Amino acid sequence: MSKWLLTETSGEREAFFAQEKDRLDSLAREGQSPDVMFIGCSDSRVLAESLMAARPGDLFVVRVIANIVPPPGSGESVLAAAIDYAIEVLKVNCIVVCGHTDCGGLRALERGLENGCPGNTADWMTHALPALESLKHQGLDGEELHDALVEQNVLLQLQHVRAYASVRQAETSGAVKVHGWVFDLSHRRMRYYDDALGDFVEFDPPAGP
Ligand SMILES: [Zn+2]
Repeated sequence: MSKWLLTETSGEREAFFAQEKDRLDSLAREGQSPDVMFIGCSDSRVLAESLMAARPGDLFVVRVIANIVPPPGSGESVLAAAIDYAIEVLKVNCIVVCGHTDCGGLRALERGLENGCPGNTADWMTHALPALESLKHQGLDGEELHDALVEQNVLLQLQHVRAYASVRQAETSGAVKVHGWVFDLSHRRMRYYDDALGDFVEFDPPAGP
């Protein structure tokens, strides 16, 4: 039996419920009103709540392979539904698209989707192809290419998010801000895209040596 089924009796969940009792009672009574929509990768190492130090009720989370947001009109409705719900019903004031290093979906894209990537996954990953194509002429390879692709993919998916009418209107009116982040798994550092600089910069840079 999976250890996750055994945790049913481990008490860990009960301890969590006890620790968050007041907040969970209030959320059950009054409903959710999260401030942030978090769109991240399904990768088991990218935990939205941990990265944002969030508690129950804080985040509306969608995690999909390679934090891809298919653009409007692509025929994919999961992200479309979640985005409209977040903006129009939950009225979040922030959308974060969070990529991460060592992303398996993006590595499959780098190898070529015809090289062993399962069919449905390959179809999904085509929504990130323009990010790879935008790097074609830079002569990058290996980890340099991968890290650049992780960032370019976040920027591409931000474009897709902003192409949704609900987001465009909310951003224009100032009701919503849209952010791009990258989680560097190896160094456990977060970077965000700085519009003014046109580049990714670290949150809270570590103190000097
Ligand atoms: Zn990933």
